[in-house]
Amino acid sequence: MSKFIILNKRNGGCPVCNSSDGRCRTTEDERGELILCMDSHGDVPGFYYLGESHGGLWGKYKFDDGKERERREYEPTPEPQGVKLPAPERDAAIRSIIQQLPLHDIDRDDITRRKLTPQQMNDWGFYSLSKDSVLETPVNPDLAGMAIDGRHFCIKPTDAGYGIPIKDIYGDYVGSQLRIRKVKDGNRYKWLKSRKNHRRERDAVSHTAEFNELPLQHAIVNPSQGLPLFLTEGMGKPVYTSFRFDLNVIGASGGNFLSSIKTLKNSLDILKPSVVILGADAGSRVNKNVLRNYRRLALILKEWGYDLLVADWGQGSDKSKPDIDGYNTN
Ligand SMILES: [Zn+2]
Repeated sequence: MSKFIILNKRNGGCPVCNSSDGRCRTTEDERGELILCMDSHGDVPGFYYLGESHGGLWGKYKFDDGKERERREYEPTPEPQGVKLPAPERDAAIRSIIQQLPLHDIDRDDITRRKLTPQQMNDWGFYSLSKDSVLETPVNPDLAGMAIDGRHFCIKPTDAGYGIPIKDIYGDYVGSQLRIRKVKDGNRYKWLKSRKNHRRERDAVSHTAEFNELPLQHAIVNPSQGLPLFLTEGMGKPVYTSFRFDLNVIGASGGNFLSSIKTLKNSLDILKPSVVILGADAGSRVNKNVLRNYRRLALILKEWGYDLLVADWGQGSDKSKPDIDGYNTN
């Protein structure tokens, strides 16, 4: 008898139902990894459903790519504990920040290289941010990234850069991602967050109150139904691509649409696009995990009635070819 491993928050939870409350299990049988999911008892995209366990407590699943998989390459569990400011308050707070914080010349130059005009930068609301930024008019301190006074920001002194405001499908601001100017190691893009302390009972997080997911970037030039929709990686790239080519673009941080799948479903229900086109980054074909995520996304979209087309401009596995926005470096 093989060992059963409890799928909890520590190891990333159940890949079938995404819950991490420890009710689902994984084990090995003669054909590799077997997942026992307590929530799901039927077909789930990306998995083979093998029927119920004896007694019907679990649904039995295998990954449908037939290969052993490393755990944890997608879907970080949302943080259920954090304070998530509701949409109207978020929009008001972010608009106020945009009005109060100007864009630094260094950041303006960076966005100019991404082919945005000063007017477009202004329209979208890019703003510069550093540890020293102070708002004259305070905003709601429960906005992720704000200090408890609503005037200072919870960012490290080394994390100066610009805020990329993020819009939801309704055109309201739902958050910002920080692009750091100078990165030693680690990620150049950071989600804003306010950690709990003696003055703050719980973390304030970037996850939305509506879906408990990280927001997707919506750069929608025309909200009419039945138009093509592009999907890209990141929070900046959808904006640059949309302005440059006059397209509707939705972006996910790290290309991870799977962790914001409820948000994506809601947006598709509203837009009802004629076709969904993935503008895969140069180099994505060589990354096994990214590929697997896109494959799962394609299966889910198929279930919703959309074929996922992949835009191919010869970028393939060649990192020297441009990404969809024509600008390669991050
Ligand atoms: Zn499960």
